[in-house]
Amino acid sequence: MKVLCILYDDPKGGMPSEYPLNSIPKLEKYPDGMTLPNPESIDFTPGELLGCVSGELGLRKFLEDNGHTLVVTSDKDGDNCTADKELLDADIVISQPFWPYYLTRERIEKAKNLKMAITAGIGSDHVDLQAAMDNNVDVVEVTYCNSISVSEHQVMMILALVRDYHNQYAIVRSGGWNIADAVSRSYDVEGMHIGTVAAGRIGLSVLRKMKPFDVNLHYFDRHRLPKSVESELNLTFHESVESMVAVCDVVTVNCPLHPETEDLFNENLISKMKKGAYLVNTARGKICNRDAVAQALESGQLSGYAGDVWFPQPAPNDHVWRNMPNHGMTPHTSGTSLSAQARYAAGTREILECFFDNRPIRTPYLIVQNGQLAGMGAHSYSEGSATEGSEEAAEYKK
Ligand code: NAD
Repeated sequence: MKVLCILYDDPKGGMPSEYPLNSIPKLEKYPDGMTLPNPESIDFTPGELLGCVSGELGLRKFLEDNGHTLVVTSDKDGDNCTADKELLDADIVISQPFWPYYLTRERIEKAKNLKMAITAGIGSDHVDLQAAMDNNVDVVEVTYCNSISVSEHQVMMILALVRDYHNQYAIVRSGGWNIADAVSRSYDVEGMHIGTVAAGRIGLSVLRKMKPFDVNLHYFDRHRLPKSVESELNLTFHESVESMVAVCDVVTVNCPLHPETEDLFNENLISKMKKGAYLVNTARGKICNRDAVAQALESGQLSGYAGDVWFPQPAPNDHVWRNMPNHGMTPHTSGTSLSAQARYAAGTREILECFFDNRPIRTPYLIVQNGQLAGMGAHSYSEGSATEGSEEAAEYKK
């Protein structure tokens, strides 16, 4: 079989010859007891770069030893890109949300051999899920592999925005020492009201991690958490997102991108937020309206915006979020720490082993199967597509 793998570029200076740490912690299980990826074996060193082209997700030996063909490229956007040419006879496509190969309906319909799209990570919105269902292409992802990575990044961003870290760091870097400038937007999070849109694996982890800061915690989700968790964390559940954002100083976004959540934080919803609130979005860029966020930062309706997700990706060089005031954006990195890469590379290998051996893929990994939403797809997504406009990714110039 032919496996097409779209990965982000290598470091500009080439692959590292050494890493800051000699090893990464070995985890026993995920917080809810789910087992970590358990392929029969791996051909990579955990803690090394795997998500870039030369890293190859550690898959080449395994695939070639078993008679398959692996094609790896980062060239994924614009007319005549390598990925589009290689897609035509590919059986399996692997892509990461950090550098997503947008599997639009047009692309899926041209890929006559395509059987499965694997997301090496979490979040399969870069695949037109409706087109996948219509064309009997299964979609799977490595559920839980980087949920905790993202929640750590999110806590960092909440603290960085509220305490105004980026401004203070910039003052130091520029040789300055004006304390008044450094603190005129700086607060404590203690006592604040913090709410998450969705309390799945990431959202719940953020709530748990913020609890020791002595804040008031809120959530909105289409699935209610068990009563025991609500009382353990003293959570306030909201029946609507509007009700929650009206009372929160900090709102975080942790739902997948699908037709129900696309453009959720538009001008209308942002106007219903508490004046001067902070918005942190590590879920997907398209859940927040690009221009409405920038305008709200200009007007002061939002005091800060942070996250690592953009639409499209890579973000055009002139994307307004790169230069709007009081932002704390990173490129899409939270789920691709070296620690996370080891888990999703192993999870991708587990999925491939199951597929080639005709064994069932774990139910929580399923998004689309046999033409319908399945597993986590049925739990967390809705039918339809959110890939419209993704061709703008071709505008990014390295
Ligand atoms: P999860 O499936 O455990 O949780 C998703 C939650 O969203 C579920 O509780 C679901 O009920 C809720 N939800 C879905 N639609 C909703 C709606 N319309 N309104 C309210 N709640 C809704 O997934 P997770 O591991 O927590 O990941 C969530 C999302 O985070 C992913 O789908 C992905 O988009 C994003 N993510 C980003 C990164 C990153 O690197 N930035 C990494 C992993 C995941």
